[in-house]
Amino acid sequence: MLKDSFGRPVTSLRVSITQRCNFSCRYCHREGSREAHGREMTPEEIERVVRIAARLGVRKVKLTGGEPLLRQDVTEVVRRVSRVEGVEEVSMTTNGYLLEEYARSLRRAGLKRVNVSLDTTDAEKFRWLTGGMRVERVLAGIRAALEAGLKPVKINMVVMRGINHEEVMKMLGLFSGTDTVLQLIELVPGNGEFFRKYFYELDELEAEIARHAKAVRRRRFMHLRTQYQLNGARVEFVKPMHNSQFCAHCTRLRITADGRFKPCLMREDNLVDFLTPMRKGASDEELEELLRRAVSERKPFFS
Ligand code: SAM
Ligand code: SF4
Repeated sequence: MLKDSFGRPVTSLRVSITQRCNFSCRYCHREGSREAHGREMTPEEIERVVRIAARLGVRKVKLTGGEPLLRQDVTEVVRRVSRVEGVEEVSMTTNGYLLEEYARSLRRAGLKRVNVSLDTTDAEKFRWLTGGMRVERVLAGIRAALEAGLKPVKINMVVMRGINHEEVMKMLGLFSGTDTVLQLIELVPGNGEFFRKYFYELDELEAEIARHAKAVRRRRFMHLRTQYQLNGARVEFVKPMHNSQFCAHCTRLRITADGRFKPCLMREDNLVDFLTPMRKGASDEELEELLRRAVSERKPFFS
């Protein structure tokens, strides 16, 4: 298994398959990749890099973006990646807008799970946050994902002071008794001014949920994330900011939509381009070397 110089195994890949998006969320960090060459990897290129990573021990692949469902060939990408030897789980993070029409074909292509972003169910607030989109379509997407067997559906809720921090319990109630996990996510800087205004620390809320939880589960290789069960719902907290435990248990390597390995969400200065050499005819061994170089660049951001 591939390990970085801090002893952290690299077992998961987060692959951005497009920078394009149909939403304009006010807080979006675009997976830490604001600049892109404007090129996108083909399904074959994505499959090839995943195969190289899987040979080195990667077992989970998450497809993300931008908005991954904007790619017309998204089911082909899923089909190719899920057939790679060694890959045990292919999942996707989506804003859910097009999920109603894609859920079944994605499932058939081999997708196991989805994370759907939903910060509020208030139609007006949702429109304001996303740049004019309709929340009902996202809710329909979540229902379609559950019906298609993409379970559990993880609901990504970025918690923001004064925008939705008082909506958490309502959200829990809404998804209680369904095969979902509510992921409460701390805002990370993407848009500086927005971050300063709306950052909401989740420690207190987590302590409160922990007090009422019926069961607690710790997930060691997922940033030491804790899952709580209460009132028929499951809740997880994602708190990357100034959290050395989050970094210490990070097993993830990222790939940008324009074909570069990205060792850390929080950094833009140590990316390793593999798509240029791939397109110039690099061998698998040469590409593997680039992947190893990116892994050697991995360093806990908060330590
Ligand atoms: N477009 C897809 C979506 O929205 O789910 C996938 C890409 S989006 C960048 C991936 C996740 O990052 C979403 O759940 C989104 O809410 C979250 N995200 C974006 N900007 C963020 C920020 N500044 N802080 C915390 N989470 C953020
Ligand atoms: Fe960013 Fe996802 Fe919102 Fe698009 S939908 S702007 S990628 S958070």
